[in-house]
Amino acid sequence: MQNSEATLKEQPMRGNLSLDPADWQAFTGLAHEALDQVLAYQETIRSKPVWKPVPPKLEAELKQAAPLKGLGEKTVIQDMLDCVLNYPAGHAHPRFWGWVAGTGTAIGTVADLLASGVNASSGVFNDIATRIESQLIGWMRDLFQFPTEATGLVTSGASVANIIGLAVGRDAQLGQEIRQQGLSGLDSRPVVYASQQVHSSVDKAMGLLGLGLESLRKVPVNERYEMCLGSLEDMISQDRSRGMRPIAVVASAGTVNTGAIDDLGGVAKIAKANHLWFHIDGAIGALANISPELKVKFAGLELADSLAFDFHKWLYAPYEAGCVLIRDGAKHRASFQVNASYLEAPARGIGAVPDSSNIRGLQLSRGFKALKVWAQIRDFGLEKIGQLQHQNVRDVHYLKELILAHQDLELMAPVALNILCFRYQSKRLECVQWNDLNKELLMRLHEQGLAAPSSTVLNGNFVLRVANTNHRTRRNDFDALVEYVCKLGREIEREWQ
Ligand SMILES: *Cc1c(COP(=O)(O)O)cnc(C)c1O
Repeated sequence: MQNSEATLKEQPMRGNLSLDPADWQAFTGLAHEALDQVLAYQETIRSKPVWKPVPPKLEAELKQAAPLKGLGEKTVIQDMLDCVLNYPAGHAHPRFWGWVAGTGTAIGTVADLLASGVNASSGVFNDIATRIESQLIGWMRDLFQFPTEATGLVTSGASVANIIGLAVGRDAQLGQEIRQQGLSGLDSRPVVYASQQVHSSVDKAMGLLGLGLESLRKVPVNERYEMCLGSLEDMISQDRSRGMRPIAVVASAGTVNTGAIDDLGGVAKIAKANHLWFHIDGAIGALANISPELKVKFAGLELADSLAFDFHKWLYAPYEAGCVLIRDGAKHRASFQVNASYLEAPARGIGAVPDSSNIRGLQLSRGFKALKVWAQIRDFGLEKIGQLQHQNVRDVHYLKELILAHQDLELMAPVALNILCFRYQSKRLECVQWNDLNKELLMRLHEQGLAAPSSTVLNGNFVLRVANTNHRTRRNDFDALVEYVCKLGREIEREWQ
């Protein structure tokens, strides 16, 4: 064996192609330089603009056809550094609070490098990736007080976690024949409930699961943007009497617009009384269960039949990584079970995986996303992560106080968690111009690279929206935000008057 290996090495085969570097030493030098630059980007990010648009010249270059002849690693690594480090969306910046972006971490960067370095596909092989993901799922089971028979899967994000949770719920409610025969044989229409503030990924899941977008019944919300439980009960009984078949209810643990948390225990009770599957979309908030101070807001999470959440939001992990937990592991597997001779697990060897992730989700091949999350939890410990989440919430309340104290700014929704909606309230322009003014103001904030909130519309009002899942933010970043918003607001007023 050793002999033949040595012989192979001594006589490189002429004309034999490979994609390995021709000169490993030279490549190593280039790779080290690239890693240095990536880490320096993170270290010095505070001094950079939050965002810069891709310049037209580069945009034009990026429309060129694929090269027939390779450009070589030196050129390509340099190009990547020039493009990627200069024109990202800015998620890693201390003044990025748009949408919900978890900032990323240096340890996560190294973990992603390792995961791709060994080209791991997680969950379907008898290897370390499968073991590490399994430990991470176990940690999540503990965090959310799910029973030992609960199963889970690391997903690309909460969109897919919502699809998986609702797929299992659909099959558990309608029977496994549904998987064989589809929905067409049903004599009553299955319907699912969620609040009017539910995330669009749940609508998407309804379409993909064959239930139909219109079968997602949107329950009104109260003045805190939480699902009205009375309305939920009324809608369920009305739908039943109209011949529909309620199968599931989706509660939000942190809505995307305002961070509102539905009364999880209350929804759980109604779901149980009506024999419905109880799914929680906890993409934004669920992981704040780590913080002892915030955990109290999430009573009832532990009652979910299925729970979706995102590591790339409030666990600060680099994109992408989310997770789904299913209380009843047997039901989870039943929804994704397949029989394929080429996937049968042998007793020993590389394919010996008794609980392949292939029968817990949509994907067969799946990257080793668990590694960065596992590494972060081990590096920082749950305690520090919880403290940071609490800091994010306290800092948003600090921003709230600044806004309340300022005559040109208006708080537009209650602050339930780490999301705050506000707007510039012009004394010099008519109310009907406020939506346009705030839109313009947001674009200038981005274009000038000052700060990156995003926006939403609440009761017809265009509002600036800050979601703080940023471990780099300091209070003076919020001081700066208030200053920038007021300066730009006055500037636009002057131009439009
Ligand atoms: C972000 C988000 C999702 C979708 O999650 P992805 O990770 O983007 O797939 C679902 N629900 C809520 C409430 C979200 O904020």
